[in-house]
Amino acid sequence: MNFDHDISDIRLASRASHPGDTFVNASGVTVGGVNFTFIAGPCSVESEEQIYTIAKAVKNAGASLLRGGAFKPRTSPYSFQGLREEGIRLLVEAGKKAELPVVSEITNLSQLPLFEDIDVIQVGARNMQNYELLRELGKTNKPILLKRGASCTISELLMSAEYILSGGNGKVILCERGIRTFETSTRATLDVSAIPVLKKLTHLPVIVDPSHAAGYSEYVKPLSLAACAAGCNGLMIEVHNDPAASLSDASQALSPNRFENIVDDVTKIIKALYS
Ligand code: PEP
Ligand code: MN
Repeated sequence: MNFDHDISDIRLASRASHPGDTFVNASGVTVGGVNFTFIAGPCSVESEEQIYTIAKAVKNAGASLLRGGAFKPRTSPYSFQGLREEGIRLLVEAGKKAELPVVSEITNLSQLPLFEDIDVIQVGARNMQNYELLRELGKTNKPILLKRGASCTISELLMSAEYILSGGNGKVILCERGIRTFETSTRATLDVSAIPVLKKLTHLPVIVDPSHAAGYSEYVKPLSLAACAAGCNGLMIEVHNDPAASLSDASQALSPNRFENIVDDVTKIIKALYS
């Protein structure tokens, strides 16, 4: 039972409305369908050298999009909050030099003008239900990477996607990033079931972020393999040139080598399943 929405309100996002898979073009990189997309980069942009070093490394390892947070929604106000406007500038510059489209998170509507050169705008788990933000993003023509809220249901995620789609922006990529359960061994519990459920309910591409689900670098690879085997369209993984020194989310950060090893093994699964 959904008390404040009807499942039939999933109009534009539903598979019934659009039986074929949707492909989202992110500045030349296609997300969805048979393409498998690796998005990689640091939790936060920290410096010009850091982001460029990581950009080159993840590109060599097989990533086709570069991520980097500039406006960081941190649980504590005393944690590193991101380089903000400067972080956006450094990310755009690194992406241009490494020839990778870039993804960064918006946390407030007022930041939108700063995202002009950002290829994919991320809406984080904490903002999945910021409906005013979603409405404004629906008026843009940027691809939107919409992350599932940690305590949100799959139908709530689809209703949030519906806000963007109904505003006229069809370029929505959904992201499962783990949900809050009673389990404390991991940062969140990766909801692998959400992958086939979303694939059934919607035509939108579904990617998985195993890093924020795991919280620990050693679990990122097994979760990546499971997500790929379950049918997702891509992975977003946190990678740092010096993981232990990451200014945010150090415990889940992977070195470029460990990221490359995941790309290699995920690619084997894709070949076994789809070729
Ligand atoms: C992130 O991807 O940088 C992030 C903050 O993730 P989430 O919104 O899933 O917590
Ligand atoms: Mn992070």
